[in-house]
Amino acid sequence: MIEAATQLEQELDACFQRTRDLCDARGIVLTRLDDGPGRRLNLRLAGQRCEWRLEVDCTWPCTTKLPNVVVHAPRELLAHVGWAGLVCVSDSQGLSLDEGREADVVAHTVQEAFNLLERSAEDAVGDKTEFFDELEGYWSGLPGVTWGRSAVEVNEVSRNIVMHVDGEAPRLALWYFTEHGSSAPREFPVAKLPWARAMYAVLTEPVSPPKPGGKLSAADVEQVLSSFSPEQKQLWQRCVSGSAKKKQAVALLISMPRPAGGRSVVGLAFSVHKGQVLPNELVTPISVLRHTVSYMRERGGASTAAAEKHIVVFGCGSVGSEVADALAASGTGRLTLVDPDFMSEDNVFRHALGRDRIGWPKVVALREELTRKYPGVAVDEAKVEAQEWLAKADLDSVDGFVLALGLPTLERSLAWRLRAIGKALPMVVTWLEPLDLGGHSLLLSTNGEGCLDCVYRDEEGADALTPQTAFLAPGQAVTRNLTGCSSIFVPYGAIQSRRTALLAAEQMLQALDGGAAPAYAFWAGDGIEATKQGLRTTPWWSAAKSALPADATKRLFGRPCRRCRNGS
Ligand SMILES: [Zn+2]
Repeated sequence: MIEAATQLEQELDACFQRTRDLCDARGIVLTRLDDGPGRRLNLRLAGQRCEWRLEVDCTWPCTTKLPNVVVHAPRELLAHVGWAGLVCVSDSQGLSLDEGREADVVAHTVQEAFNLLERSAEDAVGDKTEFFDELEGYWSGLPGVTWGRSAVEVNEVSRNIVMHVDGEAPRLALWYFTEHGSSAPREFPVAKLPWARAMYAVLTEPVSPPKPGGKLSAADVEQVLSSFSPEQKQLWQRCVSGSAKKKQAVALLISMPRPAGGRSVVGLAFSVHKGQVLPNELVTPISVLRHTVSYMRERGGASTAAAEKHIVVFGCGSVGSEVADALAASGTGRLTLVDPDFMSEDNVFRHALGRDRIGWPKVVALREELTRKYPGVAVDEAKVEAQEWLAKADLDSVDGFVLALGLPTLERSLAWRLRAIGKALPMVVTWLEPLDLGGHSLLLSTNGEGCLDCVYRDEEGADALTPQTAFLAPGQAVTRNLTGCSSIFVPYGAIQSRRTALLAAEQMLQALDGGAAPAYAFWAGDGIEATKQGLRTTPWWSAAKSALPADATKRLFGRPCRRCRNGS
């Protein structure tokens, strides 16, 4: 026991000494106070405006996160300091903690905490810009905080909204907020829950939350209510109209300007009777989890530009289904899926759909999967052949086409029909090579130079039946069958189709973003399996491994083409 105690003391001593070295070097006066229970260092650092008393939790090993630093009794609302005094020293990206250097980690953390506190002290005597930027974080640390998921758009319009309270709350959220008059998102478990009126109120000035140690009270609610405009007061009256005869539970979501841009939103739940906030009842803070399409898109890195775009995907097989999924995940707002096929046993393992969809029309199942996964994505289905769809389609709203049919002849014919639609839209044609040889994607336009026929020429520019892009030398049988002639297929797997689909989706997104010049993207695989099976490859396949896409693009589209520009 004595030995262990001595070791702990030595370790804390080492942490203190290292911290003192760093403070000395910067001229910061540091005092060690009595150590706290466990492995806690109590320190006092002299700042510019005040002295900071810090408790540093030196629980080792500091391998997964920096030690906690708590500042004692701050008198102000300080940016990056929680209600309970925890200083939010961030584990800066690129910092990797070294297990054998606890003293260095502790000393570094104390310096970071000190720097942050000094900055926050300046912010606190100024306009509190940093604090109000971080308000939602502070709110989520208030005592007794509860969680609410909100599908209410955070905008500048005050309005009545709907709240559901989940009494059982096995999930993270207790409250669910939705817009009045629109159905709740399907992932909100509110169907069987009672609902009540609530209000979303837009404030022009931020309101201060309780200081460290303080609590939310009816006075805080009154302060918010007193700042309401006449119009907001009317909304409020409507919200609490049920309180005339009996006590009513109500929640207020308040939205405040955030100095860094956008708005913060926090919630308060309390009781009202006869229109008055009950002074002696609990006021519960609600930390709001934003559940709007716009928030989830932005947070998830989905393109906002693509949200307005409509892409038609011809072919929803291995590659096409993955292109559709990648486009939806990247934020494309609307997809039309065209494919007459049904999902079968042969597709499992190399399709965006799984075995539970066997027997379903691919387009129907994909529409369901994509709209379930990605909020704000609209999917139209067309269970017909590409040519049939095109003959009847209204193309006014369409912004681009993906051809992933896996049938070159059909693709060339379809590409020609698309060139007849009379306007310039991006058209991506993508296909796979057998086994692990690779895949291709061409970005073309329905108008102008660069067509699919540009690819079907030999080195001299004469028409050819095999594309210049081919990795597999022509004239070899690569199809396999497991059960007879009726089940002929080209062997490749999920990695091959996904890699290829990602090239195609990326090309389409680039085109939607303004890059419309013809381009050729490809990946050349190891070809280990192809070599094993004795397949012959083209010189281009060997060259492709080290070729630059720009050079390959030039090789394909840099010469005259009988079909799309002058030349023979
Ligand atoms: Zn051409």
